[in-house]
Amino acid sequence: MVGGGAAGMIAAIVAAEAGERVTLLEGSGKLGRKILISGNGRCNLTNKAADDLRHYHGTHPRFVRSALEQFRLDETLAFFTDLGVEFREEKRQRLFPVSDQAQSVVDLLADRMRYLGVRVETNAKVVDMRRAFASSHFELHDAEGQCYTGARVILASGGISLARLGADRSGMDLAVGLGHRLTDLKPGLVPLISPEKYVARMQGLKVRVEVRVALKGGREAVDTDDLLFAKYGVSGFAILNLSARLVPELGTKRAVLRVNFFPGRSPEAISQLLKERWQRHPHRSLELSFAGLLSSKLVRPLLDHLGFDAAQRVNQLSKGARWQLAQSLTNWPIAVSGPRPFDYAEVTIGGVRTEDINPDTLESFLVPSLYFAGEMVDIHADLGGFNFQWAWASGVLAGRRLGS
Ligand SMILES: Cc1cc2nc3c(=O)[nH]c(=O)nc-3n(C[C@H](O)[C@H](O)[C@H](O)COP(=O)(O)OP(=O)(O)OC[C@H]3O[C@@H](n4cnc5c(N)ncnc54)[C@H](O)[C@@H]3O)c2cc1C
Repeated sequence: MVGGGAAGMIAAIVAAEAGERVTLLEGSGKLGRKILISGNGRCNLTNKAADDLRHYHGTHPRFVRSALEQFRLDETLAFFTDLGVEFREEKRQRLFPVSDQAQSVVDLLADRMRYLGVRVETNAKVVDMRRAFASSHFELHDAEGQCYTGARVILASGGISLARLGADRSGMDLAVGLGHRLTDLKPGLVPLISPEKYVARMQGLKVRVEVRVALKGGREAVDTDDLLFAKYGVSGFAILNLSARLVPELGTKRAVLRVNFFPGRSPEAISQLLKERWQRHPHRSLELSFAGLLSSKLVRPLLDHLGFDAAQRVNQLSKGARWQLAQSLTNWPIAVSGPRPFDYAEVTIGGVRTEDINPDTLESFLVPSLYFAGEMVDIHADLGGFNFQWAWASGVLAGRRLGS
């Protein structure tokens, strides 16, 4: 097993349960470093909607079907419950351990590996892998010059985001060295950069909004959740989640996010609402007329940006002005030019091309007895526990096939 993250550990457990003698090689000094920082240290380890294939993306998103169907949500919960994890559901059907500690997930997976006799080698970064001369075995060499051999190998070395945790291309390079192709790699579940000056001026402000963005082929991505204005652009749950579908399409062209500051409500409804509020309190300034409705930190910059006088009394405003406001606040354009770098990304978009891997077994089409699992494959998923679900399900499938 190359990689001691989510996919590698669960694959090791499943293969060892099937009676295989398993060695797990982890490049860093610790197992499961991304699990430890996931979900703000609480590990959002799956989602109640994990079986819904629409949450998974990649050049060929249907590639996930077989793995996800062979390790569905109920089996995932049963596996972790058996390990000792109790679950709590939070907003957007996200499931966390009730301990609120990602460490407990890593500890329980590590304990299970120990119990099953999995040999775990940390600080063993594999830098070279080849078929041994005159044998069907693989030879793997780590950066310290240690050599390991195995009849079958699972590559589960993860994505390349967060270099400070030791993530790099070394695992993907092993796959390339054996003839596999990679797609372009891009940061995913990542804040977006905006060239709009007023966005930077609103940095620190978090609001609940509905965001829409047009995708290729007349499709549209929509999310309703937090939007955080930042110095470089926009972040927050809604933005991070949309980035999974938008970033693959962002080339040199900018995209425009359409923000509704009144989620689920139409411009007509907002115009009517403003009319009623303005009739009730005609003496109020335009800015004060939004008090209790929108954050004051939001109202002033938006009015300034639209060229409205925030101090003007609402009884002096025309019907046309009210309609312009209602339309703008329900369909506010924010241009975005691209994702922030990999150091800010939760996942890597892209990876080993799925055309080179059998979806039913996760075995390479090019190199028999070599399997792939987890984020290093050209699959990424929505925010909310779906990336771990892919890591668990693909790790289990590869581990089962290796052990069969
Ligand atoms: C800040 C952050 C928060 C996240 N929160 C969540 C969340 O709450 N829910 C969710 O579903 N997803 C979350 N994710 C995504 C999730 O962590 C990953 O999708 C998941 O960890 C992928 O599992 P993996 O086993 O494929 O890769 P990884 O977990 O990255 O594991 C790969 C392992 O392989 C090792 N390795 C790499 N190269 C080599 C080599 N050459 N030799 C030996 N070992 C090597 C690495 O050191 C690493 O330990 C988060 C990610 C980040 C960065």
